[in-house]
Amino acid sequence: MTKEQFGLFLRDLCVYFCKEIPKDRILSEYAKCLSPVPNEKCDSFYSYLVRHFKFFPKITELEDAARLFIPEPVKKVVVNSELCFCCMNSGLIPYNRKIPELSNREYVYYAACPNCAVGNSRRELPNYNSIFPDGRGLAELKKENEKRFGHITKPQAEQAKQQVLSFLRQEDGPLSFEKST
Ligand SMILES: [Zn+2]
Repeated sequence: MTKEQFGLFLRDLCVYFCKEIPKDRILSEYAKCLSPVPNEKCDSFYSYLVRHFKFFPKITELEDAARLFIPEPVKKVVVNSELCFCCMNSGLIPYNRKIPELSNREYVYYAACPNCAVGNSRRELPNYNSIFPDGRGLAELKKENEKRFGHITKPQAEQAKQQVLSFLRQEDGPLSFEKST
């Protein structure tokens, strides 16, 4: 939505829920989660909020609700040729951030993994390196993932899968499953 639309949207929402217009930093948090909703979806988004919320929605609730009104971008699927131990191929690196205006409470945010193709394709998120130019914590995270998952080789994963499948194929196996139709 445009800046003007955002202003009207938040004002209407605050008036409806009898809430004061939030200030500065908080306001920009609202802008961040509401601005991706296209102009033409604003009315239905607004109706959705007043229908589904008894109280003024929290930022995270607004974010979830906004997702229903943000069209999925058509993008090609990017895959990593090798397993990225930073993000385990999710392209996401979680990090904690304290919000001074919210009693310094910590919230979990996600950044795009700077170390792989999947991460670099996630342009909707800030890149981890742009938030932490010193790469804070990333090397430790990678090491930890390598320790936890590094020993599982592709053949091992395949073998485990085959074991499960052959177990499921046993006629008089210890478990019975519904027949798939
Ligand atoms: Zn990665």
